[in-house]
Amino acid sequence: MARGSLRPAKDLCSDCGLCDSRWVAYVRQACAFLHQQFERMEERAHGRSRHLANEDELYFGVFQRMVCARRQSPLEGAQWTGIVSSLGERALEQGLVDAVLCVQQSPSDRFTPVPVLARTPEQVRAARVNKPTLSNNLSVLEQLPGSGIRRLLAIGVGCQVQALREVQASLGLEELYVLGLPCVDNVSREGLQTFLESTSRSPATVVHYEFMQDFRIHFRHSDGSTETVPFFGLDTPRLKEVFAPSCLSCFDYVNAGADLVVGYMGAPFAWQWLVVRNDRGQRLLDLVEAELELQAVTSAGDRRQAVQQGIEAYDKALRLPLWLAELIGFFVQRLGPKGLEYARFSIDSHFTRNALWLRRHHPEKLEAHLPSFAKEIVSRYRLPKP
Ligand code: FAD
Ligand code: SF4
Ligand code: SF4
Repeated sequence: MARGSLRPAKDLCSDCGLCDSRWVAYVRQACAFLHQQFERMEERAHGRSRHLANEDELYFGVFQRMVCARRQSPLEGAQWTGIVSSLGERALEQGLVDAVLCVQQSPSDRFTPVPVLARTPEQVRAARVNKPTLSNNLSVLEQLPGSGIRRLLAIGVGCQVQALREVQASLGLEELYVLGLPCVDNVSREGLQTFLESTSRSPATVVHYEFMQDFRIHFRHSDGSTETVPFFGLDTPRLKEVFAPSCLSCFDYVNAGADLVVGYMGAPFAWQWLVVRNDRGQRLLDLVEAELELQAVTSAGDRRQAVQQGIEAYDKALRLPLWLAELIGFFVQRLGPKGLEYARFSIDSHFTRNALWLRRHHPEKLEAHLPSFAKEIVSRYRLPKP
């Protein structure tokens, strides 16, 4: 199937890759942007859907266990401490799976993703670090037939996992394990360029960046130097439309369909945040747990006022002078939400923004596209008039 020949989600397509494989035949029921079917997906993957009355499940989805962790010996060059890559490596070394679906980078551009079915630990390690752009991961499903792969570990973001779960039964696999990353505000390669140029002092030398729990973006440059920029100093007028339309209409921030989720947003600064959703997720974590330092999740502060103020500032597309952004950042970092409350701050901020974006750009989709957990979260805030 030629790339780009069919994209039924049109402008909302996140380029998840399903349409680049023979499983395009399932696109009408599988595409995350044509159907939102979280309850069905959760029931199939975890045996039940989330309890909306449980505040933690409302926000973070079905789970058995939530914990903060970091590798005792961090993996050099990984996005955080490399829990994801080391887990993929162990899954192959210990024979749990025959292959790992992960994303390497183009030899000519560090930020252009190249999805692969890795068959060796070295190939998994070569996929470490985020490629912070839309990645057509599911295109490599096309390589499954005839490959001899019976057991697969798929690493991916929410929209990829939603489509994967829908076609899972037709893949001919004996086992599928899903290791999910939380994901928000993704961009096309061109969008990434605009973001880097409007935010970093040296866009051409950025090799790594992350929005971190101290309310700053941390850039690492090719000469090893680091740069941090306060969230509150971003060029909002320029960045308002830089994120992909798929991501401005996405409510799967915490990857509801994965067996195990590995992110950072519910953890203290420099730690990772793990959500074990089911027994298969624990089976994955067992592969690396002895290599990790663990601590319990914590939560502090109150996000609600900051979220409400953020909605209004974003809507007016305000750009604060740097001194004011630094000042606000200084106080928010010390007094603002931490741990799980930081994760809720980020979820609230993105869900309200995305609901507003959908209301303005695709009002006909709003009702069906907003899952019930997102409706409940958005209803807690005052949104500007359409
Ligand atoms: P590594 O060991 O460095 O492995 C990274 C893995 O990411 C690799 O296996 C690779 O296959 C995979 N990958 C890289 N790029 C992509 C891509 N474009 N699509 C799919 N898979 C990819 N966590 C949060 O808590 N909050 C967030 O808002 C958040 N946003 C994210 C946005 C994007 C686009 C991505 C890719 C990840 C995001 N994460 C977020 C996850 C987080 O940044 C780390 O990836 C995660 O904590 C794992 O770190 P690690 O050191 O264990 O990963
Ligand atoms: Fe196809 Fe995926 Fe795009 Fe939907 S998001 S149209 S399934 S490539
Ligand atoms: Fe997919 Fe949502 Fe991430 Fe965009 S923000 S790449 S739609 S999971």
